[in-house]
Amino acid sequence: MRQFSRKIIDWQKHQGRNNLPWQRKSAYEVWISEVMLQQTQVTTVIPYYEKFIKTFPEIKILAQSSEEQVMSLWSGLGYYSRARNIHRTAKIILSKFKGEFPKDFKSLVELPGIGSSTAGAIMSLAFELPGVILDGNVKRVIVRFKGISNPIDSSKTQKELKSFAEELLPKNSFREYSQGIMDLGSMLCRPKNPVCGNCPISKNCKALELGIQEDIPFKKPPKAKKEREIDWLLISSKNKILLKRNGSKGIWKNLWLFPDKDILGKNNISLLEKKEALPKIIHNLSHQKLNISTVKYKIENKDRLKIDSSHSVWVSKEDSVKMGMPKPIKEIIANYL
Ligand code: SF4
Repeated sequence: MRQFSRKIIDWQKHQGRNNLPWQRKSAYEVWISEVMLQQTQVTTVIPYYEKFIKTFPEIKILAQSSEEQVMSLWSGLGYYSRARNIHRTAKIILSKFKGEFPKDFKSLVELPGIGSSTAGAIMSLAFELPGVILDGNVKRVIVRFKGISNPIDSSKTQKELKSFAEELLPKNSFREYSQGIMDLGSMLCRPKNPVCGNCPISKNCKALELGIQEDIPFKKPPKAKKEREIDWLLISSKNKILLKRNGSKGIWKNLWLFPDKDILGKNNISLLEKKEALPKIIHNLSHQKLNISTVKYKIENKDRLKIDSSHSVWVSKEDSVKMGMPKPIKEIIANYL
């Protein structure tokens, strides 16, 4: 086992990624990057991460900001519960732990949005303590190295992976090892066309020995996604557009959206001048496929619309970027206003 970790640590030093903006940083920065990296690629995360840390350089500043400010910086990154949990956790760390991250696994996994892999990342990458990371890249390396051909998403395989990951941990250099196994999964042991010829652990890799490295991890076929139709109204008046805050349930809770016909009502719609139907957008979420239709409307005098002003707002294009909005809304505003 020691050989496995030693080879990965040596390889990481010379060939791994050593210039990511969150490397060798505080627990706060490691935590933000790890949460952003759940479900999102490194290249997409970097600009979001840099802007987030610039706006909230310390956990205290984050905890004392409004949820609206946090959501606006998360706009477009998706999986918005991550941002809400970050905000909640920042408040807990400030009030319960005096602004310092706890260093033990049990306290970390009790915080909102911190699962065992994120806790393992904070422990190993920030505190240089033994911590197990089991993100998608690490799971793929272990599945192939051990030649596990059962479905990766079964609870049996998940338990097996956890126990292998613990077994493979080194006795020291936890930061380099964790970074190394993630880098190996991302750079060499890629989902398609793994570069086994350059891999430091190829000698003992079971999948390579059996020639099944391209066939595993095996996943159960995904269930068909539910489709949902969405019809938005992009209403402008002079240089302002109408946005409506979404309710506290569903995929985009509390984010700002365009109103739909049901919300606006027939009387209001009869006052609008129809301009054009925008190209349809298909937006894929992990469990749903959204077919989004948007029609542009105009009204000269916005005060003629009877709207619930506690949940609606007229904003300029420039001010809208400071609001928490999902990606399709951001794109429509950027492309069609
Ligand atoms: S030898 Fe190939 S399949 Fe095995 S761990 Fe290395 S890159 Fe992955």
